[in-house]
Amino acid sequence: MTSLSELAQGQQYPAAALYVVATPIGNVADITLRALHVLGLADRIAAEDTRNTGQLLARYGISKPLVAVHQHNELAAAQRVIEYLKAGERVAYVSDAGTPGISDPGAKLVDAVREAGFAVIPLPGASALATALSAAGDWVATFSFLGFLPPKPKARASALQALAQHRHAMVFYEAPHRIVETVQALADALGGTRRLLIARELTKLHETLHQGTLAEGPTWLAADANRQRGEFVLVVEGASPEAANEHDHDALLGILLEELTVSSAARVAATLTGASRNALYARALALKEGKPDA
Ligand code: SAM
Repeated sequence: MTSLSELAQGQQYPAAALYVVATPIGNVADITLRALHVLGLADRIAAEDTRNTGQLLARYGISKPLVAVHQHNELAAAQRVIEYLKAGERVAYVSDAGTPGISDPGAKLVDAVREAGFAVIPLPGASALATALSAAGDWVATFSFLGFLPPKPKARASALQALAQHRHAMVFYEAPHRIVETVQALADALGGTRRLLIARELTKLHETLHQGTLAEGPTWLAADANRQRGEFVLVVEGASPEAANEHDHDALLGILLEELTVSSAARVAATLTGASRNALYARALALKEGKPDA
């Protein structure tokens, strides 16, 4: 059988470099052979949570000096890491779970290390984002990752309003105590008909993948308290081209109606957009009469 270090060869692992290493998102077996090789090779491991990382390393028989680099000390800790790199060390960085820098610390460290002239070497691995997307289906061919929505209702509603015409699927992370209100807010802002994938506890014992619509999302979650527990990725279908066009047409007609009659506004909009004059006339009339939902 090929050994771990043989499998992980094929690339040099230079000294004086920062290795950004992905770790499991739940199932401890989801770590790559290269990650284990590099963690074994590293002189020091910088970690978001040294206790958690210590436990993970212990599972694999790896013991290394640890240094804490988390949300609250990332810039200052980056300077310490740079000192280790200056001394010629290989430093690995791991966040608490998954890929560093994805809704996790790591990005500021990467900036500082590169700015200081040292190499940054990424090691791919688990991420809740990619794991959920891999089980979503063809409707997620293009997507945007939005991470966590603002927790306050007003800020969340305006963030979602700004995304209402976004054509690509959208991926959100959410915590269990906000999952129901977030799914409800998504349905309120984006309408009930869009597809929604709820990916819960990925790679863990109670992994659940439920695909339905935004309208039935809150009901599905409410049907069993267990469905609201754990960690969540939400994947939401983007706006249909028709809906996005309608929105653009409304904006254009709104401007034209400030100066023109309904009929002229429809004619100009039809010339500019190539859309049906009759349809634009009906829309302009509804906007003029203050009935945008007609
Ligand atoms: N860096 C991580 C990654 O690569 O996915 C994400 C870290 S972020 C602080 C934690 C959030 O990711 C959780 O609140 C949840 O939304 C999502 N997440 C992490 N692990 C998950 C899992 N096993 N199942 C579903 N969602 C998960």
